[in-house]
Amino acid sequence: MSDVTGGCACGKVRFKFNKAMGCGVCHCLDCQKASGGGPNYVVLALKDGFEVTKGEARVYMSKGDSGADVGRAFCADCGTPLWSITGAATPFNPVKLGALDDSSGYRPALHLYTDSAQPWHLMHEGIPRFPKMPPAGPPPT
Ligand SMILES: [Zn+2]
Ligand SMILES: [Zn+2]
Repeated sequence: MSDVTGGCACGKVRFKFNKAMGCGVCHCLDCQKASGGGPNYVVLALKDGFEVTKGEARVYMSKGDSGADVGRAFCADCGTPLWSITGAATPFNPVKLGALDDSSGYRPALHLYTDSAQPWHLMHEGIPRFPKMPPAGPPPT
């Protein structure tokens, strides 16, 4: 896989990564806040190979469902949500598909936190849905 690149709307923050574990759609309430109302479409980018190439994102810290600290990186100037920062035991950071320069090649492989999905959220047919976090972590693709 060659480098995947992305950045915020104003161009102040840029990043890249070169390995990912697939794509998911999160309906948790925190993601609904971060997305502006919809579920959050993310690609799981391996931390090994993920790099901020320009600028510096601001990070909002909160407690995830598990009680662990979760950081949400965004551009302090334009507000674009960029990626989440997971604990040391997790090998990937979820990166917002909307932050990528080209997200057209991704296909969501699962929906998670569907317990808090809104009735008007659309869900893809034929892919797994989990009421909370998937028990065995995200599937490889
Ligand atoms: Zn920006
Ligand atoms: Zn979420």
